[in-house]
Parts: sequence; C-alpha cells; structure tokens
Amino acid sequence: QDKLEDGLEKTRSGLFGKLSRAVAGKDTVDEEVLDNLEEALVTSDVGVKTTVDIIGRIEARVAEDKYVTTKELQGLIRDEIASLLLESKPERPASFEAPLPNSPHVVMVVGVNGVGKTTSIGKIAHRYKAAGKSVLLGAADTFRAAATEQLVIWSERADVPIVKQYHGADPAAVAYDTVARAKASGADVVLIDTAGRLHNQIGLMNELTKIKRVMDKQVDGAPHEVLLVLDASTGQNAIRQAEAFTQAVDVTGLVLTKLDGTAKGGIVIGISNEFQIPVKYIGVGEGMRDLQVFDRAAFVQALFE
Ligand code: GDP
Repeated sequence: QDKLEDGLEKTRSGLFGKLSRAVAGKDTVDEEVLDNLEEALVTSDVGVKTTVDIIGRIEARVAEDKYVTTKELQGLIRDEIASLLLESKPERPASFEAPLPNSPHVVMVVGVNGVGKTTSIGKIAHRYKAAGKSVLLGAADTFRAAATEQLVIWSERADVPIVKQYHGADPAAVAYDTVARAKASGADVVLIDTAGRLHNQIGLMNELTKIKRVMDKQVDGAPHEVLLVLDASTGQNAIRQAEAFTQAVDVTGLVLTKLDGTAKGGIVIGISNEFQIPVKYIGVGEGMRDLQVFDRAAFVQALFE
C-alpha cells in the first residue's frame, strides 16, 4: 500500500489543509464550520452532489447530538466517505484470485484516449495471469493504428496472447474473433479494448452496442463487466466523461488511473457515489505492477493518516 499512500500524498495534504482551515478557531461544529467544510470538499474534487450528501449527513448528526466537537468531525467525515464508497458485487469480483463466475469471463474496457486504458488492460492482464488464469486480449480499437501497436506491446510485457485485425477493421468483428478464440482455447478471461472517441456520442454508442450484441450471442451475458477507465488527475473532466459513457453503455466498474502525484484524488469518492458504480482498480504509476484492487478501508486510511 506504500504506493497508494505516496500517491495520495498531494490529495491528503490538500484536503487536510482545507479541513483544518475549515475548523480553525472553533471547538464545535456550527453553521460556519459546515459552510467551510462544504467548500473544502468541493475544491478537493469530491464533486458537488457528493459534498451535499456528506454535509447533509453530518448536519443530521449535529442536529441529533447538538454538541459535536471539531475533533470528532474528522472521524465523522471519514465514516461518511467510507460508507459512500461502493463495494464490488460477487458476480463481478475485483479480486484477481477469486473464482470467475463465467467461462470465459468477458470484460470490455472503455474510456477516452490518453486516460491510461491500454496501460490498465496490460496491468489487469498481468494480475490475472499472476493469479493463474489464462487471459486473451482483443484489440477492438481499430480506429487508431497506434492503439493496436500499444496493446501488442502490453501483451508481450504481460506475456498473454492477443487477437487483432487490420487498421480500420470492424471492431465487433475483432471482438467476435477474440471471444471465439477464447472459447476454443478455454481462456479464462477476455479483455476487449475499445475505441475512445467522444466527439461522436451516437457513433460511440452504436459501436459499443454492436460489440456487446455480438459477444452476448457467443457467451451468455457477455460482456460480464464493462470497465470505464478515467484519469483521476483530470478532475471534473473525468466526471463529464463518466456522464457520456454511462449514457452510451452500462458501465459496471471504474478504473481510476494516475492517482500517483495528483491532488485530485477526491474524485474517487465523488465519481463512485455520483454514478453508483464501484471503483474496482486504481492506477498508481506507469509500470505493470502499478495497479491496485481498490480497497475502501485502505483508501480512506491513506487519505486521513
Ligand atoms: P490510452 O490512450 O487510454 O490507452 O492511454 P495509455 O494507456 O497509452 O496511457 C497514456 C499515458 O498515461 C502513458 O504515458 C501511460 O504510461 C500513462 N499512465 C497510464 N496509467 C498511469 C498511472 O496510473 N499513473 C501514471 N503516472 N501514468 C499512467
């Protein structure tokens, strides 16, 4: 967890500074402290909706107990944050060691270019493989030639096979080939990369829907997981991307990348709550091992200790 603690250092010091300024000179929590707290959370990229949720719950506690000290406030904020973070469902386990509920277990990965989608697929492939599972990658981002090249590099790094076609091929055809080969070879996990062009929302929606439809005919319920990759360091931009993608496809889990060195780690809290989607993995560096299964207790601890 050292990487997580180091990675969240900027978020932690930013949030702490703001929280201590919010309660400066006060012994008990009053209207003014709550106003300051609200501002501290919003400017830490927690998001407006989630901040309002947190403040509302703390207000209710203050109304009940009348006398809440500013010392107790930190514990309250911590509890509220932990309770807002969602847990992964058993049918879509985040743990790489857990038995997979489907064979093959098909995961479609979506997200805008540059957020760390390819890197995350490579890291996830590596983790599944290290847990003794056979993995097959599908290069269904056929729009950018560089996307396939990058994925090939990651397939070599993680030492897992990849299915690809020519530049400009039908992404659904690549997905079909990948799942067909996974079934034939008895692969445990299929990771499908997809194109990340947001400028054409209808086109994106059609493309993702077609890929899903094709795979569902091959393996019941596929894709069993749709992971949306977001760059945590882009703050509110990540929220806008989540809006667009959740409208285009049923996103079942989030991967938040580049948590190393950003002061915008508060986004993890807001985005999970706002879209009611669990954060499954977090990226804390560029290397193959720099991916962690999201652990809410460890995250909250890294933020507050
Ligand atoms: P894609 O276009 O979404 O597939 O993005 P890439 O996977 O090619 O990543 C874009 C850049 O972000 C590359 O330089 C990666 O090394 C970098 N990157 C990806 N994940 C992380 C992360 O968790 N931390 C850091 N610091 N860099 C990352």
